Amino acid sequence: MDATPSNGIALVGFDADDTLWRSQDYFDDAQTQFERIVSAYVDLTDIGKQLYECESRNIAIFGYGVKGMVLSMVETAVAITDARITATDIHRIVQMGKDLLRHPVEVLPGVREAVAAIARDLPVVLITKGDLFHQEAKVRDSGLADLFGRIEIVSEKDPTTYARVLREFDIDATQFLMVGNSLRSDIAPVLELGGWGVHVPYHVTWAHEAEGKVDVGIERMRSITGIDQLAAAVAELKALAS
Ligand SMILES: [Mg+2]
Repeated sequence: MDATPSNGIALVGFDADDTLWRSQDYFDDAQTQFERIVSAYVDLTDIGKQLYECESRNIAIFGYGVKGMVLSMVETAVAITDARITATDIHRIVQMGKDLLRHPVEVLPGVREAVAAIARDLPVVLITKGDLFHQEAKVRDSGLADLFGRIEIVSEKDPTTYARVLREFDIDATQFLMVGNSLRSDIAPVLELGGWGVHVPYHVTWAHEAEGKVDVGIERMRSITGIDQLAAAVAELKALAS
């Protein structure tokens, strides 16, 4: 899509998982537990890789989130163990998923202040993907819902989805800035549409999100190392956009 001249940033979107609150750490812990369970049956070093391949194949069927991950774990465990995995161990995997869905939401340090500072100046929206129930619960438990004009829980974060959301807001992509930890989901698709991005890397990244790279619009993106630098990055891009 061609970028048309912007009249300035008119809307700021925020990713949620690993941008506003901790998420990937819990998934990584679950994967470590899964590997421990399955390694009692087989002597393999690539259990994590096999799980990731299964999850990647299943995204189009289950979507993102804990429930899809648990089903992929069961499928992988059955395949890797030649169906020898016990019902008890499958139950442990399901229980792990339930624990993941119920873990307390841990808002990252400085996030409330950083979002509030942006929200004083511009409308802000939360755009996140994953299990609908889980994401709704995390938004509620985070105590951050009051900061956002709207909360969009989407099934995929690609240019098509962002274009649809922006149409609903009646905002041109050149007036939209997205803040998030994933180049693949938060930054690249928005830049591709002609928008702006602030990348805030998290200390761990799911392999799927780590596959992302920015091919276009890099001059419309800033990378920061902490959320305390967000206001300055947004101000800089805002000046460029107007
Ligand atoms: Mg994220």
